[in-house]
Amino acid sequence: CGIVGILGTSSVAPMIVDGLKRLEYRGYDSAGVATLENGHLERRRAEGKLRNLEARLREQPLSGTIGIGHTRWATHGKPTERNAHPHATDKLAVVHNGIIENFRELREELERDGVRFDSETDTEVVAQYVSREMRRTNDPVAAVAASLPRFRGAFALGFVFDGQDDLLIGARRGAPLAIGWGDGEMYLGSDALALAPFTDTITYLEDGDWAILRRGGAEIRDEANEIVERPRQKTTAGA
Ligand code: GLU
Repeated sequence: CGIVGILGTSSVAPMIVDGLKRLEYRGYDSAGVATLENGHLERRRAEGKLRNLEARLREQPLSGTIGIGHTRWATHGKPTERNAHPHATDKLAVVHNGIIENFRELREELERDGVRFDSETDTEVVAQYVSREMRRTNDPVAAVAASLPRFRGAFALGFVFDGQDDLLIGARRGAPLAIGWGDGEMYLGSDALALAPFTDTITYLEDGDWAILRRGGAEIRDEANEIVERPRQKTTAGA
């Protein structure tokens, strides 16, 4: 039910949890974080409150200066650790708010192609679909561009990619998502409040937009895949 993503310069897992705490007001039943440790995706997830995730992170810390986190309000699949986000493959990890309405159809298509699923969620079709595109193109940006038109329903998505230490992708359709601008850091969040600990400079994505973030800035594209400009705003969410 809440998304935080950080392309940072120091250890991001504690920052991501801090951002997720600001989204607790939305309600959730489980939570998780994924980062790139030495270039490779690692994740920790836990049922229940964020303090359970924090306890997990104390037992098994996650290093890494890029990552995504999520608080989940289960719509498809029980609120278990296995169904908690981020969902991951050998290529990427994704967090999702909303519902992928055609997930059954996409899951069947992928299963016919030999893909095996780990969870009961609608979200995992996003992870698996984009991963299949990446096996074709080996290009995360092209893979997301090719995949987004296949997803029906409402979503905000955040992606990180194995081996890609300077790339975070966000997309929104029917669910809110904002970009935060930092000093050599970039952020993704469900709202300005989630990003208030890090920055007061926010760009709200418009419906259908998706954004390619690197530490040096962001490229925003619309639903037709055209590069667009969206205003930066000063927010008082943290005041
Ligand atoms: N539909 C997804 C799930 O059940 C995402 C729910 C949410 O917005 O947290 O896992």
